[in-house]
Amino acid sequence: MSSATHQRVVVLGSDGFIGSHLVEALLRSGSWQVVGWDREQIRTAHLPEKHPEFVFRLRDLRDDPALLASDITQADVVVNLAALCNPSLYGTRTVDVIESNFLHVEPIVRQCANAGVRLVHLSTSEVFGRTLRSWAPDARIEEGSPFETFEEENTPFLLGPLASTRWSYACAKQLSERLVEAYGREQGLQWTIVRPFNFIGPRMDYLPGLEGEGTPRVLACFVAALLSRKPLRLVEGGRSRRAFLHIHDAVSALVRILERPEACDRKVFHLGNPANETDIHGLALRMRTIWSRLRQDPSILELPLQEVSASAFYGEGYEDSDRRMPSIAQAKRILDWEPHLGLDEALISTLTDYHQRFPKDAL
Ligand code: UDP
Repeated sequence: MSSATHQRVVVLGSDGFIGSHLVEALLRSGSWQVVGWDREQIRTAHLPEKHPEFVFRLRDLRDDPALLASDITQADVVVNLAALCNPSLYGTRTVDVIESNFLHVEPIVRQCANAGVRLVHLSTSEVFGRTLRSWAPDARIEEGSPFETFEEENTPFLLGPLASTRWSYACAKQLSERLVEAYGREQGLQWTIVRPFNFIGPRMDYLPGLEGEGTPRVLACFVAALLSRKPLRLVEGGRSRRAFLHIHDAVSALVRILERPEACDRKVFHLGNPANETDIHGLALRMRTIWSRLRQDPSILELPLQEVSASAFYGEGYEDSDRRMPSIAQAKRILDWEPHLGLDEALISTLTDYHQRFPKDAL
């Protein structure tokens, strides 16, 4: 139910890293009424006062099924960002990971289909698992082939065996994608799937040991080490490679996806920045340099990098994605989008946020 000038969007997981930036951008555009659902209100706490067109539901998705169903029915589009998506949980809270990334998604997909409401579903680049090169090092694979550059429609999903519990998340996300696609084919659901490739930026993860326990993603782990002047730990030497995308580039693509329902119908988009690829060892070096500049402290450059085994760091069952290089052809063609922020700019933006929030070292 949209007013004359506003479309109505329901954002599930609106207080998360991606959700909070997306909600801000939508409100800034002046074209959207936003109903946000989240079980915490940290990153968007400042918004309801400033924006009467933002309604916030401080609830878990399962707390109030009738209200959720009513919100979905009245929406023009639902964006599903609600997920447990932290690699350290995939092997330690596997049941929760599968439930949140598949079982809790199913009623939302069904309700969107029944109500005739468009669904933009955030999946993950992790659905691809590992590259073929990592499974078959002797195979002849051309650089730029779909086995090397993950294509939106062509690249197969290559997950590990059952004992590699790391893949619980990817598998649940794959099944959600297949469910969304099937509802589209069999029941006319209008859908768009988005696979994020390592988004970074302000308001990212909590810092372990300072703001919470456990193991967040790599940037927060390295910042926590820099802040407490401990070694930066490189899992299996930090040989894995990632291409990082700044959240502002990501959100500009997401807004275009919301604005172009027909062009994006039944399409998969990869949002990533192929130019921003680095291995994790290189990431640690760049982050240490940037942090030393932000702190104006050359002694930070002396902090050591320390190799650690995957089982010591994450526990048994962890297996890594060796590389995630996105094709972003579909986003370029349909959204007329491309990323602008380079790796150093994106890291400086992210680290400046941590630097401002933690002006003193945690020793
Ligand atoms: N990693 C690391 N040190 C850390 C945390 C992570 O070397 O303190 C590695 C991890 O093994 C992986 C990469 O950094 O190769 C990215 O991990 P992250 O948890 O950020 O998420 P992913 O991209 O794997 O989903």
